[in-house]
Amino acid sequence: MNTFRLPTNVCFDANALDKLKEYKNLNAVIFTDPFMVKSGVADRIAEKLSECNVSIFGEVRPDPPIELVAQGLEFLLKANADIVVALGGGSSIDAAKAVLIMAKRSGKKQNIKLIAIPTTSGTGSEVTQFSVITDKQAGVKYPLVHEDLQPDVAILDAELVRTAPPSITADTGFDVITHALEAYISTAANDFSDALAEKALELAFEYLPRAYKDGNDLEARDKMHKASCLAGMSFNIVSLGVNHGIAHALGAKFHIPHGRANAMLLPHVMRFNADLPKDFSSDSGSFSTAAKKLAKIANRLGIRSANIKFAVNGLCDKILAMEKTCGIPATLSDAKVSKEDYLAQKEAIINSALNDACTVTNPRKMTALGVEEILSFIAKY
Ligand code: NAD
Repeated sequence: MNTFRLPTNVCFDANALDKLKEYKNLNAVIFTDPFMVKSGVADRIAEKLSECNVSIFGEVRPDPPIELVAQGLEFLLKANADIVVALGGGSSIDAAKAVLIMAKRSGKKQNIKLIAIPTTSGTGSEVTQFSVITDKQAGVKYPLVHEDLQPDVAILDAELVRTAPPSITADTGFDVITHALEAYISTAANDFSDALAEKALELAFEYLPRAYKDGNDLEARDKMHKASCLAGMSFNIVSLGVNHGIAHALGAKFHIPHGRANAMLLPHVMRFNADLPKDFSSDSGSFSTAAKKLAKIANRLGIRSANIKFAVNGLCDKILAMEKTCGIPATLSDAKVSKEDYLAQKEAIINSALNDACTVTNPRKMTALGVEEILSFIAKY
């Protein structure tokens, strides 16, 4: 038997933030980052909770470390929170999730509701049972996976993403595409996850270039926000693959933003996973399942090709071209990682990628040599 659950109540379109007005006479804590505090967004959210006793924890930083989770837990217990509103990118939502599960596990605070309000269109964390926490000392990012990490409510308001500069729009947008493509070819993929991934990809390929070009294009922002949520639902059901396994390691070692690390690897991981036969030019039964599915999605995205091999290569070339237009670095050198630093960390990155929880559902069995082969495409000095 196979089964999945999507327990999060997703609120979207006009006045979605008014969902917050339903909460009354409760202690509410807003978990967010300094940008959301400074720009006044956290206060605007607090106003919607006018019938609650609101406090703001505004210390979240990218790739939230274990220490921040401990700090957040102390804040939450002191505020005796009944609801937590996670406002921000994946880092704010993940930090809030980790704090909440610790509060529940410690027995000190049960039944706290989590409301996630994403301000980037990228991680899909508002609907997933994942939380990625960083151990700075060990230089490792750990994806925690548990159904208790899934938010009770997700509020999608694309207006909140308008302030994201082009570089964050690009990084997070390619995170969406990576989620959907990895879910689509995951070993656990099924008809439900495929449907969610296909829609996410159709939206992201059409609207990411527009959102990148003009951050005030609210139609594009809205479609990317929904694509992010759909991709989150998809990988929440069937997990991801080695692209994320390596990206977590690169993020922990070199502080490359998560979506950017995913984007740099994506075309190379897809070609690696397709494992195309070298000398084939026509369709044949000997193509891998991943290759066939990538060819299928390429056709859905309007990349017309005579056969599976050309379709997969067409898709990877299209991703590369989009990444170039959106200013995604092609190599570690372009991402300001020195050759010395890369070589010093290479073995640790390979080990970390092989042990990452996301790598388990990669369609091609991963070995150290395989990770090294993928890395060789971006480790060009
Ligand atoms: P982020 O939350 O780390 O934020 C990156 C930067 O963008 C921050 O400086 C933040 O202040 C800024 N920012 C956010 N929204 C903004 C806006 N509207 N306007 C201007 N600036 C804005 O970025 P992210 O990519 O959303 O999250 C990355 C984190 O999420 C990583 O730790 C990654 O591992 C994790 N992640 C989690 C999941 C999951 O399912 N839980 C999935 C993928 C990634």
